[in-house]
Formats: sequence, C-alpha cells, structure tokens
Amino acid sequence: MELHQAPDQPFAVPVTRRSPEWGWLEYLLHASCSTYRIRLRSACSVANKRLSLEFDARCKGLLQLHAWLPVAEIPFGQTVEDICRNGFKAGHVGVSFHVGNLQLPSLYDDGRDRGGNDRGHNVKSRGRSLPAGRRLYEFLLCRVGAGRSYLVDKAAQAESLALPPEFDSFCVRHSPANEQVVNEEFPGVLPRHVLHHEYMVRDPAQALPVYLVHFEFDPEMPELLNLPLCDSCGLQAALVYCQADDAILCRPCDTRIHSANKLASRHIRVELNRRPNGPLGSCPDHSGAEADMYCTECKLPVCQHCRKLGNHSAGEAKNHRLIGLREAYQHALKESSSTANSMLSERQRVEQQQVAQLDQRLVAVQESTQALEDGIYDQVQLAVKQGQALAEEQASLFMADELEAKRQLEQVAWMDSFMEDHVKNLPPPDYLNAWLLHAKVREDVNQLGRLQQARASAMLRLEGGLRLVTDDSKVYSSEAAGTMTAAPRPRGGKSPPKTRFLLDG
Ligand SMILES: [Zn+2]
Ligand SMILES: [Zn+2]
Ligand SMILES: [Zn+2]
Ligand SMILES: [Zn+2]
Repeated sequence: MELHQAPDQPFAVPVTRRSPEWGWLEYLLHASCSTYRIRLRSACSVANKRLSLEFDARCKGLLQLHAWLPVAEIPFGQTVEDICRNGFKAGHVGVSFHVGNLQLPSLYDDGRDRGGNDRGHNVKSRGRSLPAGRRLYEFLLCRVGAGRSYLVDKAAQAESLALPPEFDSFCVRHSPANEQVVNEEFPGVLPRHVLHHEYMVRDPAQALPVYLVHFEFDPEMPELLNLPLCDSCGLQAALVYCQADDAILCRPCDTRIHSANKLASRHIRVELNRRPNGPLGSCPDHSGAEADMYCTECKLPVCQHCRKLGNHSAGEAKNHRLIGLREAYQHALKESSSTANSMLSERQRVEQQQVAQLDQRLVAVQESTQALEDGIYDQVQLAVKQGQALAEEQASLFMADELEAKRQLEQVAWMDSFMEDHVKNLPPPDYLNAWLLHAKVREDVNQLGRLQQARASAMLRLEGGLRLVTDDSKVYSSEAAGTMTAAPRPRGGKSPPKTRFLLDG
C-alpha cells in the first residue's frame, strides 16, 4: 500500500505533536478501536476553504458526525489528495461513513474471521506491515452532514432507493442486538459497548475531509484498558475491591461471595479504581518509575526522577505546586462524577428532549392507529352482523323454497308409488280408469304446485370502501376488493397526522 505523504499537500497542515488537537485525535482512535495499543504517528489538518464553505452551506443546521474512513476504502477510485482538493464524489449510490467502533484486522492475531458488524465497522485493509507485528494505518477523519436519516436494513437496499425528499441521508441498520459484546478472547477487558452506525450520503457536499492521520497499532504495547483478573475465579475482569477480604472480584464472584452469609454481606466494597493503595502507574517521561506526584500547573504526573534531574528539577518549574498523585486522582474522580450531569452538552439535552418528544409522538401515532383499527373493526363487525342477518333472511327464503321443492317431489313420488304398488294390480279396466285419474292428478300437481323461482336475491356484495383521512386532510381510500393505497409517510417535525376513517359508499 502506498502511503501518501500528507505534509506535501498544500491543503493539509501538520498537527503539532502532543498538542490538544493531537491528543484529541489519538483519544478518538483509542475509543474507536477500544484499545490503547494505538499510537498516532502523524496528523494533518485538511484546510480547504472552498470545501468547508460548501459543506457549511449544505449542512447548516443538520446533524453532523465525525466518521473515520480508511484511506484504502475510499470509493470510486478517488485518492486522498483528490478528496482533500476536490471533495468526495458520491456517484448515484452515495458514500458510506461508519460511526462508532473500528475493527482493525490486526487487533486479533489468530487469523479467524470474526465478521464485521457485531464489533463495529470491520476495516478491510490490514494496513502496512511494520516490524514486530506492528501495522501502520492511514485514515481520513470526515465530518458528515447526516441530517435526518432514512433507515434501511441493508446498504444494497439504499442503493436502489431514491432518497425521500424529507431526508438527508440513509442510515443502515447494524445488528442492534449485539450492542454489548462480552469480550471472551480478552477476559481482562471489560465488555465493551459497541456502536456501529452507517450513514450514506448522496450529496458530496455532505462530507468534508478534516484530518488525515497515520497511526500505528502495536500488539506489544501494554493494553492499558485491560483490567486485572478476579482473585476468586481468575477468569473475568475484576470490577470491585473488598477491603475485608483484600480481594479484587468480578461481579458474579462479588455477588456469590458476599451473599453467602450475613457477615460477608456487610463487607464494604468499592469500585476497583477507588481502592486505596492501588498501583499508581509510571511516569510518562521515565517508564518504570512510579509517578507519585502531580504538577497542578503543567497538569502532568511527576516522578522522583523528574524532581531530581528532569523537567521539575530546575528553573521555574522547580517551584511548581505539586500534590500527591492519588489526591489529584481522587479529586478528578470526584469532579467527573459530580459534573457528569452538568457536563451534558446542550446538544445532548436537545437530543434527549427530542427523543422524549418523538417517543410521545410515536405513542400518539400508535394510539391513533389503535383507535383507527378499533373503529374499523367496529364498523366491520357491524357490517358483518348486518350481513349475517341479511344472509340469514335470504337463506331462510331459499331454505323454504328448497323444502317446498322437496315436498313437491315427495308428493309426486308418493302418488307414483301408489300407482306402482296398488293401482298396477287392479284388473285392466279399473287400471285404465285409474291411470287416467292418476295422470290428471299429476297434471294438477304440475299446474298448481309449480315451484316459483327463488324470490330472494342470491348474493350480498360489498360496495365502496374505507376512507382514511389524516389531520392534514389527505385521503387514503380502499376499494372493496382492492388494497389500501400507500400509507402516509411520517413527516418528521410535524405532529403525527391523526387518522380518522369514514365508511364510504
Ligand atoms: Zn470472579
Ligand atoms: Zn468481602
Ligand atoms: Zn509543572
Ligand atoms: Zn518522571
């Protein structure tokens, strides 16, 4: 794989190492790949005024998201340079962007294929090989104006659909059942929340390249996200610490051990990271040395080497206020939990409100649908009852006719049998006389008892149909034998159309 030399591009400006921007990008990669074995090697900010103006014009007010795009997966044969200079091509199909977890092929080295969707976006490229199993990847971080998304089950489905005018993008459903994946291969790592949303945009102006990064995955790096194993079962990640037992335990063992008897149930347990005298971790500048202090001015952990010979040994930094690392840590934990609520961004608040409102609307739609169904069923039941009564009436007329016809036949048969059984044995003259009489009787029967053709109508038909009327006076009607015309598409933002029905015809 040829790597593109980002710094040569006029549209890309290198990001300074260890700057907040750099840290943000690296952290985003750690979170996306759920591993700390990733090191950012280079990052360039794509500074293309024209593209960002076009993006802002198109996506103003739309929901926007950040998505990583592996350079090896850029569609339509475009190069990174091409995209940074001229933007994306969307074709008629559009470009797919994946939000959430990235599944790098080298995260697992046993060569088994794990399927992509249950663990996030399965990156196809294995990256460029480096010594010792390390790999170098090239990704583009993009901003995507997703706006309102039309949900589809498969990407292929979206390819053949026209995007309905109320929507800005497609969202492809990815197995929501697997949002919580237990990581059985790495028992020391917590079950991770896997997120995988795929958005497809048709308008190239809805995607903007913002950073080009090269990062390295190194399987030899310590996995800081690994948790120690449970002291009891030794299989699962320990999450709690019990001071009385001086043991770290996984949740199932904690429950089992501490519900065994009353005494044990009184043990005070704390979350693992709050255990007193836990390991402190090493100094970022002096690996192997424990960082026991924290500089409140540099916002950096400091070890004894730093104080004796390093960055806090001389000059102005020598007088920086240092506090115990544990104290700083406890302070930060307290702050993070107490501000967890107030840190909710405005956007989250708005989104939570929207979710609540949409829930209400969905409930309203469901209720209106229920009322509609109930109403239709009531009408149908009434119609069925009336139909049954009419049918009974008709049937009773037919039945009467049928019985009458049978009676006529019986009568003829009865007369004929009299002829056969008795009259036939009369002496011939009497027989001849009787025969004339019999014929006359038959004639009479024929003339008088002639069954009239059915007096009732033989069939009930359904005429007309149901008309559904929405709040905004759209009418959807069904013909008696046909099917209901297309259901109204919900228009977001507006209150749900209440649907009434009218029995027509
Ligand atoms: Zn356990
Ligand atoms: Zn205990
Ligand atoms: Zn300092
Ligand atoms: Zn140090």
